[in-house]
Amino acid sequence: MDDALGTRIAGEIAARRDDLIRLTQDLIRIPTLNPPGRNYRAICDYLAARLAASGFSVELIRAEGAPGDAPAHPRWNLVARAEGAARGDCVHFNSHHDVVEVGHGWTRDPFGAEIEGDRIYGRGACDMKGGLAASIIAAEAFRAACPGHRGAIEISATADEETGGYGGVAYLAEQGRFSPERVQHVIIPEPLNKDRICLGHRGVWWAEIETKGRIAHGSMPFLGDSAVRHMGAVLAEMEATLFPLLATKRTEMPVVPEGAKQSTLNINSIHGGEKEQEEGYTGLPAPCVPDRCRIVIDRRYLIEEDLAEVKAEVTALLERVKAARPTFQYDIRDLFEVRPTMTERDAPVVRSTAAAIERVLGRQAGYVVSPGTYDQKHIDRIGRLRNCIAYGPGVLDLAHQPDEWVGIGDMTDSAKVMALVLADLLAP
Ligand SMILES: [Zn+2]
Repeated sequence: MDDALGTRIAGEIAARRDDLIRLTQDLIRIPTLNPPGRNYRAICDYLAARLAASGFSVELIRAEGAPGDAPAHPRWNLVARAEGAARGDCVHFNSHHDVVEVGHGWTRDPFGAEIEGDRIYGRGACDMKGGLAASIIAAEAFRAACPGHRGAIEISATADEETGGYGGVAYLAEQGRFSPERVQHVIIPEPLNKDRICLGHRGVWWAEIETKGRIAHGSMPFLGDSAVRHMGAVLAEMEATLFPLLATKRTEMPVVPEGAKQSTLNINSIHGGEKEQEEGYTGLPAPCVPDRCRIVIDRRYLIEEDLAEVKAEVTALLERVKAARPTFQYDIRDLFEVRPTMTERDAPVVRSTAAAIERVLGRQAGYVVSPGTYDQKHIDRIGRLRNCIAYGPGVLDLAHQPDEWVGIGDMTDSAKVMALVLADLLAP
């Protein structure tokens, strides 16, 4: 890329600083809470007006029939596209427009978008309306600096990332909107810090395990068979054999934080015996031997592992317990799975972004892999597009926290990086 274009881009971004702030504030002020999925149409309408005015052709797409889509809370998505002057690649910026619940502990108005110093506060500020705003400013600045560019730029704002992305990126991918013929490079501006490139994420397997027993009077437990005691044996076996085994499995993926560089397992929930009573119930519980006990496990696995083996470890464990307990019976049910994904470091979008980070920030880019999944999973699995990263402003630890904020300086810097990536991939 020639230096004159780089300088023009820096000037165009600097001239849009106030616009970037206003845009971020406007987006935060539309409370797109998910669940249940509020104001999706309003935020898409706002973005459609904005992007149409700057020369994008805009489509609003409802994920009809997707999980969560309902007349009261339709799953609206926006896809905007600006064509260049000649044939070339398409660079796509994908942001989710939904935010998680507010939660407790705020000292600011969560939808006020207050500014203090270099920070804009609000639910979704860093995850990820700041990133969405930065990508829009980057695209507009690049097009102003380089009107004769090749290829195309797409910007999407999609629903439901926080609840799996089925009414958002997964739906668009199923419609072929991330197929390699249509889109060649994808950047997801999630808050991974402005100097880091996120190449992918670990895999996920969720399952429900149920142990079975027989109900009886609690004063004569020997007449029944306690499903909770059976589950206790499962948990003890996990402590004795499974957790130590997982700790030995280390990945070559650059997962952050350090603790997530190994296989992990969380027990999300445990339920056994009588249901918990409504709050306000003042009576006593009934004395019964619990005849069912369930746990939900959340196993995060590494790119070096095979999902069939991951599942086999757990069934082998259950079989060991069964061999030791004559009346032990269990069921195991798959709930959800996502395979690990990691874009190659020499993929074009990675190389361009690394070079742009070095140019803007004067230091080498860091490479990371996310412990949890995000919408890249759908782009990889359904869209079959491997040239995809997450890169955007904001501190990941602030996501979903009270007093979430995004730094104005960080947004400006990452907008510059994104615009330079466009220049590298699309300049004539
Ligand atoms: Zn996010």
